[in-house]
Amino acid sequence: MALTLRAVERPPAALDGLRLEVREFLEHELATGGFTPEADAWMSGIDVAFSRRLAERGWVGMTVPVPYGGHGRSALERYVVTEELLAYGAPVAAHWIADRQMAPGILRNGTEEQKHRYLPGIARAEQFIAIGMSEPDSGSDLASVRTRAVETGDGWRITGTKVWTSAAHIATAIVVLARTDDAGDRHGGLSQFLVDLPHPAVAISPIITIDGAHHFNEVVFDDALVPRTALLGERGEGWRQVTAELGNERSGPERFLSVMPLLRAWAATGCFAEDPLARAELGRLVTRLAVLRQMSLAVAGRLAAGENPAVEAALVKDLGTGFEGEMVEAIRRHVDPEAGGVPEDLAAMLAKAVLHVPAFTLRGGTNEVLRSIVAKGLSRR
Ligand SMILES: Cc1cc2nc3c(=O)[nH]c(=O)nc-3n(C[C@H](O)[C@H](O)[C@H](O)COP(=O)(O)OP(=O)(O)OC[C@H]3O[C@@H](n4cnc5c(N)ncnc54)[C@H](O)[C@@H]3O)c2cc1C
Repeated sequence: MALTLRAVERPPAALDGLRLEVREFLEHELATGGFTPEADAWMSGIDVAFSRRLAERGWVGMTVPVPYGGHGRSALERYVVTEELLAYGAPVAAHWIADRQMAPGILRNGTEEQKHRYLPGIARAEQFIAIGMSEPDSGSDLASVRTRAVETGDGWRITGTKVWTSAAHIATAIVVLARTDDAGDRHGGLSQFLVDLPHPAVAISPIITIDGAHHFNEVVFDDALVPRTALLGERGEGWRQVTAELGNERSGPERFLSVMPLLRAWAATGCFAEDPLARAELGRLVTRLAVLRQMSLAVAGRLAAGENPAVEAALVKDLGTGFEGEMVEAIRRHVDPEAGGVPEDLAAMLAKAVLHVPAFTLRGGTNEVLRSIVAKGLSRR
């Protein structure tokens, strides 16, 4: 009964050049007003023009093979670029989901036609793909999805409602989890579909979050006809495909670096020089960050080797997102915007981070549910 988080890989020193290149690019962007650093920008920072500038540098679709329009780089190279983008609070939300999980999903399960159709556009930051899993009554219990896809002479007809669909309003396609067959096993009979957007029978409406932002959507499929070629992977294999994707979704550095720009902005005030309590707090936070990074890198190594370390990925997300919330609280204890003298960027990031904290442990599967996955996984080992 042990977790497999051995073989920790470190980004080798050879990648320092790439890290510096990304930093130079981001510093230039900052200097020229290309973006304003924000907390949780990987989720809420939708900026299509920024995504395209990144893509021009070859930093979107990095691990997509060259024949499919990508850059054929390693998972560790992508990891380094991702860490820098997160640490700077860059607005990467437009291409994030397509780059992080749908490109690997299409590579693993897609047909040659789908690979050529979607992957080059993902790498150019022209194809943005939303995830249509959650429904009004199916979040944690995803196997209970009620959206149905019925096979017809022309293809498939999809009916149902998806909610909390991040960035669907700018997406050029959505991957939909739908029931195609009534199998005895509730995890059977589910399938995934790649549906191009806009679609005349798919209505996308905004769900505005507590900070007034439009990030979420409700997506209603009203007998939407899609071609046969929209089926992604095998009919009835949707559950297996989705759980493999979630490994990519749960273990990346965004699960502990969402509020890194806030930490940087706090550190930039230099308050540690006189305040030993602030210095000790910073020390504690940075130490925990270092541990989480090692765990996340270990999972990244196993994903790159083609494994599905679902239990370890769940653990990284549980520990990482819990830590993010604690980091915001810790900084809040030391920074009082009401007291004056707090830099504007720090105050703005703190205010936004406080409103976003509840989402950290919900998105990508709630932490309570992840702990069940970890417990069940451990008891089987
Ligand atoms: C910022 C953000 C972005 C998101 N983006 C997307 C997206 O792009 N696409 C998408 O499909 N979904 C998305 N979601 C939805 C997300 O996946 C769901 O919110 C999540 O899976 C939880 O589902 P739910 O909201 O229906 O909560 P519920 O499943 O109703 O859970 C409510 C509470 O009950 C607890 N609970 C439920 N079941 C159990 C159990 N078995 N044991 C213990 N406790 C339990 C949960 O932990 C939670 O605290 C996003 C959510 C957020 C916050």
